[in-house]
Amino acid sequence: MKYPHERSASAEVSRIALQKMAAHQAAFTPPNFAVWYEYVSGINPELSSALEKLLKKHTKLQDEHIEQLYADHVSECGSKIHLTLREDLKQLLERLNRLTSEADEKTSEYGDHLQDYGSRLQGELSVAELDLLVKDITQDTERMHTSVQKIHVQLEASHQEVERLNRELEALKGAAMTDPLTGVLNRRGFESCADTLFAEPDAASHKGFCLLMLDVDHFKNINDNYGHLLGDKVLTAIATTLKSKVQGQDLVGRLGGEEFAILLPNTNLDGAFVVAEHIRQAVQRGKIRRLDSNQNIDGITISIGISPRKDKEDLNEMIARADKALYRSKKEGRNRITILD
Ligand code: GH3
Ligand code: MG
Ligand code: MG
Repeated sequence: MKYPHERSASAEVSRIALQKMAAHQAAFTPPNFAVWYEYVSGINPELSSALEKLLKKHTKLQDEHIEQLYADHVSECGSKIHLTLREDLKQLLERLNRLTSEADEKTSEYGDHLQDYGSRLQGELSVAELDLLVKDITQDTERMHTSVQKIHVQLEASHQEVERLNRELEALKGAAMTDPLTGVLNRRGFESCADTLFAEPDAASHKGFCLLMLDVDHFKNINDNYGHLLGDKVLTAIATTLKSKVQGQDLVGRLGGEEFAILLPNTNLDGAFVVAEHIRQAVQRGKIRRLDSNQNIDGITISIGISPRKDKEDLNEMIARADKALYRSKKEGRNRITILD
């Protein structure tokens, strides 16, 4: 499918796309929407880089810019990105096939000649005949060398092409696993990366494995008092704080709404508590600037639940316990951390 996002993620991409359209005073037409939707979701890397180039030159994109972007990078029925990728891959395979047959042909021809020279060496040979034989071998070997070099150059080009295609595929996969608003993993991405961590052979012997569930306190009030846009800004700022407090293999995801999760492999309960406390304090200290009034909003807090992994518990079991711990943090007054082990 061209658009890999689930319903809630697509709703969010749409909302941000509409905001961008409003900021650029674009008409709310389907092509405009498609361009901004694909840009915001990051699923069309060629479109994104073309659009960003335009943004460097123009503060506001005009309808003709968007029309051009649409024609160049979005239009055509079905999945243009997938089709292009598939077509590129097909051509690459054909080229590699031709290259291998050519290399086979050249090597077997060279082998035949070598055998030929071998038989010539069996008989009596004068110095002049030996001289001729050496010249033939030298010429043939040089020809083979040149062909091998050519093949090498072509192989190198194909290798680079494979890498380019790989990067495009990674961008596509990344878009399906990333939360478009905050840039951290979405639920699908979080689960998929957690699966990979859990499957590591030494996962059981990790010195600890902890999950944090985090939920913004009274977030509904923030939306109600300052509007959805500022609510979004709060979520983005919190995601940035979370990313800045973790390291290495740690995973940060937005599981939905104003709820985040952090998985800390190789971290014992004490370590996880320290991370959680740093996050709690950083969020509490944070200030968000309101664009309309230049006024700072503060007093935003977050509640946290922690579950250390028991035996071979899976992610869902850890989430369920961390959720219970989070619920307790809420019940006991919010802006606090609860551990459930
Ligand atoms: P609590 O402290 O108990 O967690 O209270 P709360 O208000 O944070 O929780 P509640 O579940 O009642 O409300 C969550 C709100 O989050 C409601 C919903 O409108 C808002 N929300 C969910 N997703 C988004 C989003 O992507 N952007 C914005 N701005 N708001 C969102
Ligand atoms: Mg909340
Ligand atoms: Mg919530």
